[in-house]
Amino acid sequence: ALSDKLSRLVKEMRGQARITESNVQDMLREVRMALLEADVALPVVRDFVARVKDKALGQEVVGSLNPGQALVGIVNRELVATMGEGVSDINLAAQPPAVILMAGLQGAGKTTTTAKLAKHLIEKRKKKVLTVSGDVYRPAAIEQLKTVTRQAGAEWFPSSPDQKPLDIARAALDHARRQYFDVLLVDTAGRLAIDEALMREIKELHAALKPVETLFVVDAMQGQDAVNTAKAFREALPLTGIVLTKMDGDSRGGAALSVRQITGAPIKFAGVSEKIDGLEVFDAERHAGRILGMGDIVALVEQVTAGVDMEAAQKLAAKVKSGEGFDLNDFLSQIQQMKQMGGLATLMDKLPAQMQAKAGQVDMDKAERDIRRKEGIICSMTPLERRKPDLIKATRKRRIAAGAGVQVQEVNRLLNEFDQMQGMMKKMKGGGLMKMMKRMGG
Ligand code: GDP
Ligand code: MG
Repeated sequence: ALSDKLSRLVKEMRGQARITESNVQDMLREVRMALLEADVALPVVRDFVARVKDKALGQEVVGSLNPGQALVGIVNRELVATMGEGVSDINLAAQPPAVILMAGLQGAGKTTTTAKLAKHLIEKRKKKVLTVSGDVYRPAAIEQLKTVTRQAGAEWFPSSPDQKPLDIARAALDHARRQYFDVLLVDTAGRLAIDEALMREIKELHAALKPVETLFVVDAMQGQDAVNTAKAFREALPLTGIVLTKMDGDSRGGAALSVRQITGAPIKFAGVSEKIDGLEVFDAERHAGRILGMGDIVALVEQVTAGVDMEAAQKLAAKVKSGEGFDLNDFLSQIQQMKQMGGLATLMDKLPAQMQAKAGQVDMDKAERDIRRKEGIICSMTPLERRKPDLIKATRKRRIAAGAGVQVQEVNRLLNEFDQMQGMMKKMKGGGLMKMMKRMGG
């Protein structure tokens, strides 16, 4: 989890309405520490924190959040945006066979990932897949690919340690073409550290094969070193994607942020076990949670920014539970909360596409006007009338309508609506209401 100090700072900041230079400094220092603890590389941390600061300064804090919580929310969103940008499945838009070139250091997980990808492409994309190993330096490497390729249910193209990687690749491509394979996965040799010969070799392979995907395979446990490796590979090759392996380890996975930022390539997959099916489509949101380790605060921030003010909801729930009943003041506070969320239009943006299409048929301007009119009507009532709407008889209705500048029918409509809602609230009691609010918060 993010340091206790940050959690404490988050609590201490209660009651401040804005993120400012003075209250953000300590927070940012802690965010920086947290990212370094998660093994994000130093230059990447600096960059990232500067971006967060830019976005945070002067930002108003929504609802019952304090600036600390709001900042955690901004950090989380920035993490998701950085790591999630441009995420997509394997690109196969090429004249078949689509070639996928695997690059990375020795032990990163290239051979394992080659087989995992073969299985993925066979099962999810219904492709005919061929693999080949260009790792002629370690005799066991070719056999290893053969074994895992069989497990994946793909075909393996034979190669041997006395051949040149470039010749192997050409022969495999030729075979793939003639046998109508959809995809050729080319596993390559790695070194324990970057070296010139290795880079030259993989550059040659790239030039000869013209792969549609050049995937950089990197060990999530690699931490700070990931940056130097990523830089070297980015300079040698136009990388199209990243596979982050060994995510089942106990690292906080900061390498994801470093590598994403350094290479500019999207993180496409995560390796989550040694087994052939241990490959998942990379999930930036889940990974941001892992790096930051503040799931509870992030969830709260999301709920509040999605418009559910938990404090207000809790008060309301307690009230309903205590039998005080739901009155027009509560109704008004609901309407006002709606306004605080930024109105219906912003709320619309948060709906899934299908619902948006449906809601698109509603006249938003009219709906917003409606809300304002309702607010006007309730504000024209006396505090007693709001608490005991039953008191509102004909003469009072006329007075309220005049005060709000509406027709009496509109007052009636509002009171009917309120009646229905009150009935619902009584049925639900407190627990149900909280559940509903939580659901709304996503
Ligand atoms: P290569 O040298 O890049 O080809 O790496 P390998 O594919 O041979 O993998 C090196 C080691 O890491 C092997 O023991 C693999 O089983 C292991 N490995 C690869 N990917 C993962 C993963 O996602 N999770 C775990 N736990 N181990 C992995
Ligand atoms: Mg290998």
